[in-house]
Amino acid sequence: MGKNLAGTTISLPELESALAEGRLVYYYQPKISLVTGKTSGAEALLRWIEPDGTVIPPAEFIPLAEESGFITEIARSMFPKLIADLLIIHDVNDALTVSFNLTAQDFASPEITDLIRDAVLCKKVDPKRLQIELTEASILDGSKPIARVYLQTLVDLGLTLAMDDFGTGYSSIDTLSLWPFSVIKIDKGLIGRMHECPKCTAIIQSSIRMAHILGINIVAEGIETSEVYDFLMQAGCTEAQGFWMGRPLPMEAFLTFIKKDPRWSGLPIGLIHIAQLDHIHWRKTLIDQVINSSFEGSAGKVRRFTAEMDHTQCRLGCWIYGHGQEFKGRRAFDLLEEPHRRLHEAGRKLIDAAERDAPHNEIADLLRALTQESSILLGLLQELENQAVI
Ligand code: C2E
Ligand code: MG
Ligand code: MG
Repeated sequence: MGKNLAGTTISLPELESALAEGRLVYYYQPKISLVTGKTSGAEALLRWIEPDGTVIPPAEFIPLAEESGFITEIARSMFPKLIADLLIIHDVNDALTVSFNLTAQDFASPEITDLIRDAVLCKKVDPKRLQIELTEASILDGSKPIARVYLQTLVDLGLTLAMDDFGTGYSSIDTLSLWPFSVIKIDKGLIGRMHECPKCTAIIQSSIRMAHILGINIVAEGIETSEVYDFLMQAGCTEAQGFWMGRPLPMEAFLTFIKKDPRWSGLPIGLIHIAQLDHIHWRKTLIDQVINSSFEGSAGKVRRFTAEMDHTQCRLGCWIYGHGQEFKGRRAFDLLEEPHRRLHEAGRKLIDAAERDAPHNEIADLLRALTQESSILLGLLQELENQAVI
């Protein structure tokens, strides 16, 4: 039985009738893109509304629902409501992604997966606009093993999977490497302790960098002040959710919120910094590759990185033709494309020379050409960063 705020207990029959009588509803908490400063989506969060208007938060009934196994019945009967809400939300803005919380139990049988798959296959919903949040703790709870195949079916359909409460589990990194997550949500506890805990700040910064290298998105939850918002933006975090920007809202209030289309600051300074690191990482990988090609057979069993040679596909290229477009029109940004293209040309020639065992002085000349383009790029990125902060 779950204890409510008044200290009394909620029983399973009460929860069952609340669901049957339509007293469970979704509230929607906005998520903000730290790149554009605009609303990018929302998280659907359950609320139990009593006839007198009292709102019972999930902490008071989700544990009971999980313990009793009733949680999957809640997910099953609330899903059509979620899809109906999503369609109304998309009437206002069809670029918004809505995430919802599931637990391991929901993947113990095919029921929930089938429900979601049917909604996608009937074209009721664009799978790219639907995201599942699952905690690491839920995945690791051995008493309710997840059938990987169901989760993978949904990811294959195009839904994204977010690891909720990242940083609270004991093997988050391990879980991340074993399951098909494409989004990390940094736990609000870590975010909340940042101001008094330099280690938390460092963990958050390195999680952001790690997510970037893995090519996955990173959302921070629990942003309660403008300082924390600014810090995360400057650190290169891509999305944020918290009371400072918006609390979980009933559907009508959420629609009013997105119709107003509020703006926060969204200058992606942190992403310029990450673009610099990406470029340095690419250059090092390429040079390692050139050096290692003369030590054929020494690669051992560890798979080595190879530098992406297509200038539109490397991380810096993805940034230039993606998020970086926010800076279009700024001199330093507009000048980036040419040296970046030349850099890749120089890189290709260098690899080619190394592979055919070219003389040492030819390789040295090509290396010089490569580092020259690299310095131009780093100079322009630095100029762009300087302009962005003033
Ligand atoms: P969660 O999925 O980690 O959701 C985020 C929680 O953080 C929400 O609490 C939200 O209101 C709260 N939050 C967001 N920003 C801030 C902030 O700036 N400061 C503070 N102090 N809190 C913030 P909520 O709505 O009470 O939900 C609690 C948990 O209940 C959720 O944590 C999730 O684990 C669970 N839950 C909610 N809805 C569902 C559902 O439909 N199914 C399942 N299985 N679990 C759900
Ligand atoms: Mg969540
Ligand atoms: Mg969370």
